Amino acid sequence: MATKLNICSEPWQKWFDNSGEKLFIAGPCSAESEEQMLSTANGLKNANVSIFRAGIWKPRTRPNTFEGVGFKGLQWLKRVKEETGLRTATEVANVKHVYECLKAGVDVLWIGARTTVNPFAVQEIAEALRGVDTVVLVKNPINPDIELWIGALERFSAVGITKLGAIHRGFSFYEKAKFRNPPQWEIPIELKRRLPHMPLISDPSHICGNREGLADIAQKAMDLNFDGLIIESHVDPDKAWSDASQQITPKVLLELLDKLILRHETDSHLINPFDEIRAQIDRDDEALVNLLGHRMKLAEQIGEQKKVSNITILQSSRWNEILEKRIEQGNQNNLGKEFITKIFEEIHKESIEKQMRIMNEAAV
Ligand code: PEP
Ligand code: MN
Repeated sequence: MATKLNICSEPWQKWFDNSGEKLFIAGPCSAESEEQMLSTANGLKNANVSIFRAGIWKPRTRPNTFEGVGFKGLQWLKRVKEETGLRTATEVANVKHVYECLKAGVDVLWIGARTTVNPFAVQEIAEALRGVDTVVLVKNPINPDIELWIGALERFSAVGITKLGAIHRGFSFYEKAKFRNPPQWEIPIELKRRLPHMPLISDPSHICGNREGLADIAQKAMDLNFDGLIIESHVDPDKAWSDASQQITPKVLLELLDKLILRHETDSHLINPFDEIRAQIDRDDEALVNLLGHRMKLAEQIGEQKKVSNITILQSSRWNEILEKRIEQGNQNNLGKEFITKIFEEIHKESIEKQMRIMNEAAV
């Protein structure tokens, strides 16, 4: 059981007296030149975007790639703010970054995914911010560890940061298939369950790693009641010095935001129209759990038999048969193969564990 959480966070609307429904942050992956920053920011300023992002120091996977323009980029952020009125945001990964950003008047500091994994680094950055009234956004760690994510948020909360938010940017995975960083939505959903007041922002750019998937992920985040989005935008995406394949022009970004459907968590004017359906879902869930319990008891009975007859727990042909039958049944019920396979793998794993226990129990 996790320890009791004591994190105090303000609604994001209070950070800058913003009355918007959702918080939109956009800007290039990296600051490259003053001109690139200003033209991107000018393209974004009249939209719903209220914060301009740009990485000044870039955490690159391999050396000898572009590692950010460094301190001079802070002056460009300053100009963006003066000329467009947009607030500014950048990533900080050490104490020096923090001091330079505070000196340059950067409004929002974000903690990158590679920093969130390191409690020493997070603690040092948090200490440097003790008593400072600034906005801090904490990206999820690259590994799917919710405790580490919450731990980092706790460290900032403990030094008095109340303008605190979390960014979901997906989780690193060995195989790069559809997503650069698969979203594993269950993790931000659990974060929301444990910290219902923590502003939660989605980063479709680093989840997708390409342009094509951005709108879907952004809409999914809105459907899950995220508070906002951070999306990479560059005046000339193909020529970007980092993350070129996932950046979009301000024009494309504005179209994407325009098309988003924003939904409300509840509608206080109606008697909750979901009540009846939810009651049915509760009944189904209850029946499902009872059935699972029953199924496991049957598996245990087989386990007893296998023990007596001294035969192996795993029977590959039987397992194949179960899976095939259920995938076919799933198909008839409009349930995808991947979904059915995942569920049955879990059920099978649990049966095996139960049978193992029986098999290895000392005879009484
Ligand atoms: C970024 O936002 O440009 C970035 C480096 O992100 P992450 O820390 O999520 O990889
Ligand atoms: Mn990037």
